[in-house]
Amino acid sequence: MKPFRAIVVNKTESAYTATLSTVDESALLSTGDHDVLVKVDYSTINYKDGLAITGKSPIIRKFPMIPGIDFAGTVLESADARFKNGDAVILNGWGVGETHPGGLAQYARVKGDWLIHKPAAFTARQAMAIGTAGYTAMLCILAIEREGVTPENGEVLVTGAAGGVGSVAIAVLAALGYRVVASTGRMHEASYLQGLGAAEVIDRAELSSPGKPLGKERWAAVVDSVGSHTLANACASTKAEGVVAACGLAQGMDLPTTVAPFILRGVILSGVNSVTAPRARRETAWQRLAQTLDLKKLDAMTCEISLSEVQQKAVNILAGNIRGRLVVDVNRD
Ligand code: NDP
Repeated sequence: MKPFRAIVVNKTESAYTATLSTVDESALLSTGDHDVLVKVDYSTINYKDGLAITGKSPIIRKFPMIPGIDFAGTVLESADARFKNGDAVILNGWGVGETHPGGLAQYARVKGDWLIHKPAAFTARQAMAIGTAGYTAMLCILAIEREGVTPENGEVLVTGAAGGVGSVAIAVLAALGYRVVASTGRMHEASYLQGLGAAEVIDRAELSSPGKPLGKERWAAVVDSVGSHTLANACASTKAEGVVAACGLAQGMDLPTTVAPFILRGVILSGVNSVTAPRARRETAWQRLAQTLDLKKLDAMTCEISLSEVQQKAVNILAGNIRGRLVVDVNRD
């Protein structure tokens, strides 16, 4: 394999750096078994990538490390019978870009267990426009459906609405027939959110401060990517037997709530973890995205960047000023 381009994160006693570099095959660690070598077409910048690339949270556990928690690409070599040369594949999570070299590079060597086949409905670019954020939004919706919530039960609140998880959640929920209420700190993005399918847009300030243990019952379900007081207030105003799917911490990792919504209303708090979700659930999530996500809406929420723009966008996503999704063409500097 010829030398190739990759973002490399390094940490010394005095500095934490992310650099666009030329590396060789030794930068791709073997997983030990069922290795699959993938030519990466696209990766993305998710919130977690922002944390990893800036070093704001200890996401990366080994240095130097190629970051990137997801990618879409084509199999070049496979020691796993499920994948053959030329297969189009996707990877989300499994510690890739954290403890194992990740997707922000032209090549990746990963375990076959971590890969799924890309749905034919999506190009590699579209699959990564969805990325881990969009796949997690779908996992949240699956969690809501598992508890029997349907559009007839009432409105669904989506927090962090103009972000990646939020944008995909709105588009899919609206396509499924839900009345979606989008909570955002960027009221100037109201028309963007309505374009994705939000019936109503509320200011996140209504949810982000300390609130009462119980509020007026409003939501049949919630997709929350924000955590902290927002999640606590969302639980407090969820209807009896409603479901709150919690996947994120953009406001904070704390959860200053009481047991009241759970023991007095039977509210279900459903935790969503995309990183080690079992293969069957991943495949279901991607199939459901293929069936429900309007590709024009996906396009409207997507901005493409090159490898050299990754570092700046990592800073921007943590500042909360990236709208929708960032897809990275890893074959462009
Ligand atoms: P984005 O940055 O794209 O979206 C997060 C959104 O949250 C922002 O766009 C903003 O929306 C809102 N937000 C940001 N800061 C604050 C704040 N201080 N208070 C309230 N709201 C805020 O990130 P992603 O969509 O990629 O990820 C969202 C969250 O989900 C992250 O915490 C991420 O770590 C988590 N996540 C978890 C996964 C899992 O497996 N559990 C997988 C994927 C993501 P607005 O401007 O509209 O208010």
